Amino acid sequence: MKIIRSPEEMQQEALLLRGNGRTIGLVPTMGYLHEGHLSLIRLARERANAVVVSIFVNPTQFAPNEDLTRYPRDFVRDEALCQSQGADMVFYPTATDMYLPDHSVYVVEESLTSGLCGASRPTHFRGVATVVAKLFNLALPQVAVFGEKDAQQLRVIKRMVRDLNFPVSIVPGPIVREPDGLAMSSRNVFLSTEERAQALCLRRALDRAEELFRQGERKTAELLRNMQEVMAQCPAARIDYIECVDDESLKPVTEIGKPCLIAMAVFVGKTRLIDNTVLRAP
Ligand code: AMP
Repeated sequence: MKIIRSPEEMQQEALLLRGNGRTIGLVPTMGYLHEGHLSLIRLARERANAVVVSIFVNPTQFAPNEDLTRYPRDFVRDEALCQSQGADMVFYPTATDMYLPDHSVYVVEESLTSGLCGASRPTHFRGVATVVAKLFNLALPQVAVFGEKDAQQLRVIKRMVRDLNFPVSIVPGPIVREPDGLAMSSRNVFLSTEERAQALCLRRALDRAEELFRQGERKTAELLRNMQEVMAQCPAARIDYIECVDDESLKPVTEIGKPCLIAMAVFVGKTRLIDNTVLRAP
């Protein structure tokens, strides 16, 4: 497994692989890998014969008040995990190599990013779309795998690929959870024991909505009311948002007909956690 630090070298290696007829699968990550990331590496392996994992805590997707400097990092461990999953290359650039001091071009999605996480993190998706476009131009993947845990991100990337004609097929990976239901996240390490217990309220609230939906409830106000009731049992949790939106447009829905994304962001202590589920009528 090769470790590549320079963006230029990444592109040269990718061109070589392409020249040799290889199919490149890219898994973009911010590192501090867990089983959720590893499941995406395995999905990439199934669809490509050269797997590149990028590890880059992308500064442009963090606002000044967010946790960029505190974000957990452990490259030695990440490297071993990538190797264990049969990755061919790890792309591990520095922020200064990725962004020149006078960097001035960004990719901006103007519709899907207005609500949900885009509302509370207004510059976040501009940073995400920009770094993913750069990673696509450097690793030259035919296939790229993204987790459904970041539901809005996945839809924004698919839209970017569609609207800017990137020759990349986007493969979604299901949310991987801890045995008790908490969605895996690199940020879970920030949770104290008490907060870790209270963090289960996200999954519990989604469970409640899924259960009501199964029983025939289609009014989103009712689903949201019930979810808020569950959340109220966790005093350490402060809701950033819980919303029911159309799975394609990400616009709020009042009555569920088409597939509906229920997405939530919740601060447990200082840690912001996200989770979601998609409701589809049988
Ligand atoms: P991150 O390192 O958090 O930026 O995530 C890198 C990729 O892993 C993104 O496509 C995420 O959606 C995905 N991911 C993160 N956590 C999970 C999880 N629990 N299950 C599935 N995919 C995940």
